[in-house]
Amino acid sequence: MSTLDYPEVVIAKGDGIGPEITDATLRILDAAGARYKPTFIDIGEKVYLAGNTSGIPQDAWDSLIRAGIFLKAPITTPQGGGYKSLNVTIRKTMGLYANVRPCFTLKPYIPSPFPDMDMVIVRENEEDLYAGIEHRQTTDAFQCLKLITIPGTQRIVRYAFEYARQNKRKKVTCMVKDNIMKLTDGLFADIFREIGTEYPEIDQEVMIIDIGSARLARYPDRFDVVVTLNLYGDIISDIAAEVSGSVGLCGSSNIGTDLAMFEAIHGSAPDIAGKGIANPSGMLNGALMMLEHLGQNDVAERIRWAWLKTLEDGLHTADIFKAESSAKKVGTAEFADAVIERLALAPQTSLASGSVVSTKPIETRPYVRKRVKKELLGVDVFLEWPGEKPAELGALVEAAVKPPFKLKMITNRGVKVYPDGFEQTFCSDHWRCRLLTVDGQSPERNTIPAVIQQFLDSGLEVVKTENLYSFDGERGYSLGQGE
Ligand code: NAD
Repeated sequence: MSTLDYPEVVIAKGDGIGPEITDATLRILDAAGARYKPTFIDIGEKVYLAGNTSGIPQDAWDSLIRAGIFLKAPITTPQGGGYKSLNVTIRKTMGLYANVRPCFTLKPYIPSPFPDMDMVIVRENEEDLYAGIEHRQTTDAFQCLKLITIPGTQRIVRYAFEYARQNKRKKVTCMVKDNIMKLTDGLFADIFREIGTEYPEIDQEVMIIDIGSARLARYPDRFDVVVTLNLYGDIISDIAAEVSGSVGLCGSSNIGTDLAMFEAIHGSAPDIAGKGIANPSGMLNGALMMLEHLGQNDVAERIRWAWLKTLEDGLHTADIFKAESSAKKVGTAEFADAVIERLALAPQTSLASGSVVSTKPIETRPYVRKRVKKELLGVDVFLEWPGEKPAELGALVEAAVKPPFKLKMITNRGVKVYPDGFEQTFCSDHWRCRLLTVDGQSPERNTIPAVIQQFLDSGLEVVKTENLYSFDGERGYSLGQGE
């Protein structure tokens, strides 16, 4: 292959320790003969402070769309001022649906209480509470919309199973909170069980996220591949990275159909920026995942062996240095030099966890939307009402609402308070009135605006409505507590 045919890789050196760890990483890649054509872009702090609140200019987007491969150093998000997180912007704009974070311990090179820990977290990267749809609805109440879709869930779950199969992993654990969020997290767990039937050779389990996180912190060596929703994945991958040793060690990939982005999992570490002491391993591991994505597994493997040999020889950056087990404390550049010197070598002792991350690009399947029979059953009308007595509001709503609807119940923060509520239940100014038809039949769609008007005519302030549907006869909404 001539150098002209090398794949283009867009590189951002980032902020804080970003330039130091990027330079170290690129020197190792070049010495090992990685085949890529670099295009450098400026994103992050400089761009934010020049007045672009997204942190990324148009010409950088053009480069990313053209090249489809992005090696990104950490970025500093300035505090306040309406600056949006550049990571979230890039992930969502470019559809980077899978965030893959291998977290493993490096015993015997680095002591660890969990020598066998070797887990890969596959985190859904676009949906959930990170859809960023938030509203203040009343004086008291603020809302963030948790959005989970069937195509988004199918894609991430299949990605996790394919990843496990390709890398000969034995188990996939799905973490959800479906005992509480029966529709959203329940969908995720259902799709996990359904797709899981196509992977009979892989052990499968569904865990509730709270006990799952506790187990992950206490017994990280019992997990293999973990697939989960966006917010839970964000939290447990930081727990896993911390438990594995230093946040400076782990790399991560963000995979989409048109762009793949590779990075360290840590941030820009402003506290040590410019000192030349940062560990470049996280960024290097991100770059190795990129080389594998580009099909350059031979180069990635050479670098990985040299990196492990460097750690085995006890050349450790300050974050992992221990006087009793390390041979020498080295800076960022010296660590890179040591890896380069060892490019033809491999460690003499093998890793206790046995982990050698290696993966080819993973194909998921196109989404086929099923035809379903969707039937309107009623409507939830949300109100701002400053009163305190649910019975008073109940009387107002009963008087306001005309057939075909009638009031089924009123809840406050999800708990039924009318009819037959408990005096003890605290009530905010945010009320939900559930209206169903008098005869149990499906109402005409045009009766919904009319019912909103009935509330307004009675002086009740409607802040939003949610239609109540069934899908193929199955209720498409949750019941109120006590309904
Ligand atoms: P951080 O990860 O930058 O730092 C946390 C701690 O870990 C610090 O003590 C730091 O010195 C240490 N550390 C991190 N990387 C290290 C390395 N390679 N070698 C040695 N020590 C290392 O987290 P933070 O301080 O919360 O965030 C700093 C900035 O980074 C913030 O502006 C945040 O928004 C940004 N951030 C960016 C990304 C990204 O671009 N992917 C991710 C997380 C945070």
